[in-house]
Amino acid sequence: MDIDEAEPPSQDDQPTDWRKEHINYLAEGLLPTEKWDARRLKRRSAHYVVMDGELHRWTATKVLLKCISGEEPRLVMAETHEGAAGNHSGGRALGLKVKNLGFYWPTMNADCETYVRKCDKCQARHIFRRSSTESLELQTSPPLPPLVETKAVPSKCTTKDTFTRSLQTAKERPTVTFSL
Ligand SMILES: [Zn+2]
Repeated sequence: MDIDEAEPPSQDDQPTDWRKEHINYLAEGLLPTEKWDARRLKRRSAHYVVMDGELHRWTATKVLLKCISGEEPRLVMAETHEGAAGNHSGGRALGLKVKNLGFYWPTMNADCETYVRKCDKCQARHIFRRSSTESLELQTSPPLPPLVETKAVPSKCTTKDTFTRSLQTAKERPTVTFSL
């Protein structure tokens, strides 16, 4: 018990189970010694309930979600996103799907966004979609002449007279450019 209250030793990639403090409080009435931590935990735990030793969270519509931790979130995301029934939906949609399946963990929305961002198939689809949009834009918008060329060649709005004059000047003084 003393170990729980002390600063946890830094364990590489081994975050503590987020459910533990809720279970400790809801099932055994244990609270952190620090006043504000205790108050915060009490407030947060109002959304949770322990059933058969497992933590569950109430949704706003009074549905119970199973709280998961450790490797479980990644497995659930993988199965939901790219499993048999998965359709590589976006991050937000994935978060909703996981919730509809009855699972919950505090960082689920952010984790689902990250998961989709790292999915190779979704990445490839995103790049393809972006490149087709870009090529569409190129087709519809008129191409702008490069800035350097506009300086060297008389612009479109130059009248015939000034254009001829410019040409003559150019013949007489070949080093002079047309830019003004
Ligand atoms: Zn995907």
